[in-house]
Amino acid sequence: MVGVLVPTPAHSALGACLSYLGPRPLPSGTLVRVPLGHRTVLGVVWNAAVDPGPAVGPALRPVQEVWHALPPLPQDWCALVDFAARYYQRSLGEVALAALPPALRALDANQLQRRLQRLPQASPAQPPASGPPLTDDQRRALDALATAGRPVLLFGATGSGKTEVYLQACARVLQDDPAAQALVLVPEINLTPQLEERFRARFGEAVVTLHSGLTPAQRLRHWLLAHLGQARVVLGTRTAVWASLPRLRLIVVDEEHDPSYKSQEGARYSARDLAVVRAHLLSAQGCRVVLGSATPSLESWYAAERGRYLRVDLPDRMGGAVRPTLRLLDLRQHPRDTLLAPALLQAIQHRVAQGEQALLLLNRRGYAPVVACGDCGWKSGCPHCSAYLVYHKAQRLLRCHHCGHAQAVPRACPGCGNVDLAPLGRGTERLQEHLHTVLANLTRADGNPVRIGRLDADTARTPQALQELLGAVHRGDIDVLVGTQMVAKGHDFRRITLVAAINPDDALFAADWRAPERLFALLLQAAGRAGRDAAFVADRRSAVELWVQTTAPHHPLFAALARHDYPGFAAQQLAERCKASMPPFVHQALLRAEARQLDTALAWLAWAAQQTQDLPGRAQVTLYAPVPMTMVRVAGVERAQLLLESASRPALQALLAAWLPRLHAGRSLPQARGLLRWAIDVDPLGY
Ligand code: ADP
Ligand code: ZN
Ligand code: ZN
Repeated sequence: MVGVLVPTPAHSALGACLSYLGPRPLPSGTLVRVPLGHRTVLGVVWNAAVDPGPAVGPALRPVQEVWHALPPLPQDWCALVDFAARYYQRSLGEVALAALPPALRALDANQLQRRLQRLPQASPAQPPASGPPLTDDQRRALDALATAGRPVLLFGATGSGKTEVYLQACARVLQDDPAAQALVLVPEINLTPQLEERFRARFGEAVVTLHSGLTPAQRLRHWLLAHLGQARVVLGTRTAVWASLPRLRLIVVDEEHDPSYKSQEGARYSARDLAVVRAHLLSAQGCRVVLGSATPSLESWYAAERGRYLRVDLPDRMGGAVRPTLRLLDLRQHPRDTLLAPALLQAIQHRVAQGEQALLLLNRRGYAPVVACGDCGWKSGCPHCSAYLVYHKAQRLLRCHHCGHAQAVPRACPGCGNVDLAPLGRGTERLQEHLHTVLANLTRADGNPVRIGRLDADTARTPQALQELLGAVHRGDIDVLVGTQMVAKGHDFRRITLVAAINPDDALFAADWRAPERLFALLLQAAGRAGRDAAFVADRRSAVELWVQTTAPHHPLFAALARHDYPGFAAQQLAERCKASMPPFVHQALLRAEARQLDTALAWLAWAAQQTQDLPGRAQVTLYAPVPMTMVRVAGVERAQLLLESASRPALQALLAAWLPRLHAGRSLPQARGLLRWAIDVDPLGY
């Protein structure tokens, strides 16, 4: 008899592990195909004791195929799946199968054989190309990584040489052990093609990527190369944390503060946190982990303060690259609908005339976030969501950014018939249009008209469109680039001397208490785009500047930003969080519920809360009242949540683990009638 994990639905009543008749004992992690209902599915052999599910069917069915052609998934992979399933309160089968490439799940043994034959022959490992000699600070970081015996938090501004440390850390690991592998996680690969190029230049064919931009076939191929040990460096996004790497010895998490590391579906795992766990599981084998950022998450910063992580600083930007000076523009001194204050406009014109580039950050795509009637107050709300429809002028559409609903702009106000509907507020499309108008009389140094580019989810719909746009900025074909937070990512634009945040105030006054942390990171990251090329900057007359238009110039966030003082900002934020008992000083979990009627969701959460009375850990866990989510309605579904909080992670975990079976069992009770979905989110990021 053999235990096999199969893809049982998230909250199915089936146990995680089903029993099948096996040919002989198979090691855990062996891939097999087994019958499940009327289908045949991919499964993972699991010998560890798990809670047995109810018997399925009268008689045991046999395993259909054992994939001898592939080595079993490594032990640490199985251990990671086991940890994640417990910690994030999901079934083992769901976590294990979701961690495998979708294309693998669709294969049978014959197809697998053909895929394997098409893989390139393992070539003798080429020694990595050598990098530049490291600075003293970089060498200190590299040595710390080798000796720390705990996760290293590499803290350094954009351009301080973090990536070079990652590259040489990988090279060292690969040289020390002819089979060793390294895993490098990044938030976003498409936006940072230069990073991939740098890894390829250093490690050549030994690098494979794993991210959502690949076709399913490519992804499978890369996954197989990693699993077979042929790929030595895996560069990937969040899901790559699940890559099967038989000899993993180094994990890098770049931009570790980035929220995209947290999955928003299924197990809702944090790839950053799982990276730390995975390295820990492999600590006896000498696996290291380094988290890098210019603005670490407060969780990681606090872990370093307490000594759980070792912080290593890279204090200077390489090659004397300049740190931008902060220029605050008080919007209260300008008319309410000011898009660009005159001083900022002048500064942009000045840059363009000199052949320099400007980068304008506005975190809203579309033309205007809402269309409104000045007479009766009607606003363009989404019929399915508690959100406004965004005006997209070029497409002449109102679009919901949450459910995708789109409709033509009404000719007249649906409320009162007024034909004078006005777009309210500003989006990237409007800013680009505005710049076209105000820069129309300006010519570039080469006599051509000024070119204004836009980078957001609308203009970067395909990878090709994105690459074209980035290429144009690189070549200097674009003088002013407008965009959402996409523009702040790792692009290496050489000629930018001015970065401006057009309207960051939303984040300053948002209900989400993590918003200031994100804003600080975003602004500092955006600022990091400017002045990267010291030689170029030295030749210019204009200063390297970060402009911020705001109605709250005295906000303490800006004082810290002006000093480029992340430690000061973090200290202030942590003091506030400590006083208010918020993460990282407490641990949180959310129970989310969705229903057609808000009352159904709220009532079910209230029932769920009652079920905790006698559970282990209850005395140490605070339960808050069920509340509607900030965005209560999305795509016609009402959403509510219940927050749980505890200073003790074990107490919270114990409660969740004991609670879950009751919630599953409650599915058929009257309380659950009308409930569409529920899910637990451990360490939630936003709510
Ligand atoms: P970060 O990842 O912190 O943004 P990078 O590693 O990309 O920093 O370094 C910034 C720039 O400095 C890059 O162009 C890189 O090639 C260069 N660089 C990094 N380390 C060195 C070094 N030791 N010697 C020379 N150039 C370096
Ligand atoms: Zn009206
Ligand atoms: Zn909608």
